[in-house]
Amino acid sequence: MTDSRYEAVIGLECHVQLATKSKMFCGCASDYAGAAPNTRVCPICLGMPGVLPVINKTAVEYTLLTGLALQAEIPEATKFDRKNYPYPDLVKGYQISQYDLPLVKGGFVEITTGQATRQIPLERVHLEEDTGKLTHIQGGSLVDFNRSGVPLMEMVSQPELHTPAEARAYLIKLRAILRALEVSDADMEKGQLRCDVNVSLRPAGETRLGTKVEVKNLNSFRSVQRALDFEIARQTKALDAGEPIVQETRGWVDDRGITVSQRSKEQAHDYRYFPEPDLPPLFVDRAWLARLQQRLPELPDARRTRYMESFALGAYDADALSTDQWAAHLFEATVAVGADPKKVANWVQNDVARLRGESDGHVLEPRHLAELIRLVDDGVIGISAARQVLPRVFESGKAPHAVVDELGLAQISDSSALEAAVRGALEANPAAVADYKSGKLTAINYLKGQVMRSTRGTANQAVVEDLLKRVLSGS
Ligand SMILES: [Zn+2]
Repeated sequence: MTDSRYEAVIGLECHVQLATKSKMFCGCASDYAGAAPNTRVCPICLGMPGVLPVINKTAVEYTLLTGLALQAEIPEATKFDRKNYPYPDLVKGYQISQYDLPLVKGGFVEITTGQATRQIPLERVHLEEDTGKLTHIQGGSLVDFNRSGVPLMEMVSQPELHTPAEARAYLIKLRAILRALEVSDADMEKGQLRCDVNVSLRPAGETRLGTKVEVKNLNSFRSVQRALDFEIARQTKALDAGEPIVQETRGWVDDRGITVSQRSKEQAHDYRYFPEPDLPPLFVDRAWLARLQQRLPELPDARRTRYMESFALGAYDADALSTDQWAAHLFEATVAVGADPKKVANWVQNDVARLRGESDGHVLEPRHLAELIRLVDDGVIGISAARQVLPRVFESGKAPHAVVDELGLAQISDSSALEAAVRGALEANPAAVADYKSGKLTAINYLKGQVMRSTRGTANQAVVEDLLKRVLSGS
């Protein structure tokens, strides 16, 4: 982990696939998931001679919306450039990208870690086209150009993150913004959000930057965090041993949990950038920009503030809910049918979140979650029974009260009905009884747990505790 003698300096470069219907410069469908290789292609995205690209207006608008959401500068004049490099997945031998005049300059992402909220500045956001995809097989490589020409937004942060946790918070907030704008699903596992990190260390208090190492191809939040943890530990060890850090690109090997050297970087690559001769410069009309500004939805930061002010949620709950569209929708819809915000926030972030991860496709109706909370409040079921009811509601779509009946989980508060279970627990656990009687009063918790177990969570805990005390004191 981070050593207090050194400060880590971390920057993130993210590539975001935009959710446009067609590709960046041609009419091919950009949704290539599950399509047979090389079926979403045309002469333009295959780079045939003599073809002309046409700019996808929606992709430009999505990038501008992102810039507006980041409160960035949107220059009036911008253009596309050719970035030349030879690689088998780059069919034209160049990529249409943006060099010195990106669509978006600056801006920031606000992150919350622990109690602290900070603004992480961005350097730029520009628009470019994706490459094809290579699959390496024995004896050669296969290439699929379905992804070739899919609009890609490159988002470069300033190196102002200092811990792996901050990098993770940055990515979560970035994803939340992109999803709120509906410009990308930004699913890392599907390659819609791809991330490279660069990290260097410097002695605490030093202002000059140390030698940075770039780690490429991280495809989950977890791998970003793990790769940074690994790199910080590796570089700390090297610096302590007086070894120089080599400026290089390293790859993350997920199953081994390590980074490995891929190539050293002597200097910036010479991509021989020049203005794309087949496209005119692009001018962003201020009236157009003003119309886009009107289209901005409520963004995660505003939503977090609203949750804290309107629902009295704490910063942690408000941040977690506001950066997760699905959770936010369920939370608001459940509160809208009359449930208590704090209780809903708890359920949504704990039991509901777990079930959502396990059971895909099932939905939880807000009125059902509200009813479940009400059943607990009214004493119809206990909390542990409610946690048994929820999965069944999730799977079956049945109302909670029906599931309570079906499973026989109604809470038993009648002490005469619970007395047998209490006596049974005492007889089966003489050691705990002896402990309690010799003054170890916490033994009662164990006995209470036994009664809850034998009644499948239906016993009213307060009544059980009362009964236990009465019986144990022999009254
Ligand atoms: Zn095409």
